[in-house]
Amino acid sequence: MSNRSLPFDKAFIDRVKEQFPTPFYIYDEAAIRQCAKDLIKAFDWCPGFKEYFAVKATPNPRIVEMLAGEGFGADCSSLAELILCERIGISGEELMFTSNNTLSGDYGAAKRMGAVINLDDISHIDYLNDSVGMPELICFRYNPGPLRSGNVLIGEPQEAKYGFTKEQLFDGYARAKELGATRFGLHTMVASNELNPQFFVDTAEMLFELVVELHEKLDIQIEFVNLGGGMGIPYKPDESPLSLEQISSGMKKVYDKLIAGTPVDPLTIYLENGRIITGPYGYLVTEVVHKKDIYKQYVGVDACMSNLMRPGMYGAYHHISVLGKENEEANTVVDIVGSLCENNDKFAIDREMPNMEIGDIAVIHDAGAHGHAMGFQYNGKLRSAELLLREDGTVEQIRRAETLEDYFATLSFESACVAK
Ligand SMILES: *Cc1c(COP(=O)(O)O)cnc(C)c1O
Repeated sequence: MSNRSLPFDKAFIDRVKEQFPTPFYIYDEAAIRQCAKDLIKAFDWCPGFKEYFAVKATPNPRIVEMLAGEGFGADCSSLAELILCERIGISGEELMFTSNNTLSGDYGAAKRMGAVINLDDISHIDYLNDSVGMPELICFRYNPGPLRSGNVLIGEPQEAKYGFTKEQLFDGYARAKELGATRFGLHTMVASNELNPQFFVDTAEMLFELVVELHEKLDIQIEFVNLGGGMGIPYKPDESPLSLEQISSGMKKVYDKLIAGTPVDPLTIYLENGRIITGPYGYLVTEVVHKKDIYKQYVGVDACMSNLMRPGMYGAYHHISVLGKENEEANTVVDIVGSLCENNDKFAIDREMPNMEIGDIAVIHDAGAHGHAMGFQYNGKLRSAELLLREDGTVEQIRRAETLEDYFATLSFESACVAK
């Protein structure tokens, strides 16, 4: 088993779990802040550059606030995410609202907060205008369809429900201008968990060319291109992290070629990544509770797919370390399973692990994005606590674990409530 580094050891977690029982998530503040600084530094050539953290990846106010402190904005896709941001003081153009199939109430909140509204469809121009009014600044999401191949995880753009066709963009900006918009942005997102840096450079080039064409045909000035999220992380031990410098310098080259010194200059770049910012720096910590030996060997832990559904849902690989056994030989082949009545409730299948005993602590890596956030309550399972390992080495609970009272809160046991 190749070792992945951890910001804590067994003795530390043994102390933490006296106060906060397993399973729990723990996020590494120092590493998240460093990642934010590295991203901003990589794009220091680009005036106005901004990363809008995709709130859906880790919708915890302490995390979003920490990232705002590093200079990030926030990218929301729902009313709840907007309100989460409002309650920690993020508003105006620090907020991006990238949603789809959106309800007018969500648009109303986004407009009230002054968020940059990114429309997913041409029909939403009039829908927005009629329901809450056309803002001064408006952005459209572009779906290049057959003009671009997507990556494996997000699928082919042609099959994706998102965005405007190229032709609709031209009609759309003209219509928004008619309705009073004076400032414009252009968005796309065609990758998810992509590890090829050139993919993002190609996406930037595609949008830069489109900005030039929109300017020529419609005489509009696009202020920014938002390249979406989708930068990947090395979940598997043999994968390497993306080089932000390589992505940034590749984009600078196409910027210098297509934008610098032309009538569309200045144009700024926005990103809305979630995964690369928090993914590698969050861990799901769980204890071994049972071992089972039938046709295969199973190790049962106290977390389950409702705490982290990526392995069960997508067959996604998450590396797993056993605390205190990091240097032992991985010589037993096991399935590591949760307690849902679903056979896909497995964190690992046929994984070579060191011999795991009841009471061992397993740490599931790369769970910091789209981990706790995708949790659910099927089978009466409760969402776990989230902890923050602070820069000074102390541990702060940033979300308590759910209780049975939370689970039953929406039910009535009093008397049947029958609609007449
Ligand atoms: C999910 C999502 C993101 C973030 O994706 P990551 O893979 O976490 O970087 C950004 N923008 C939109 C529109 C999304 O749906």
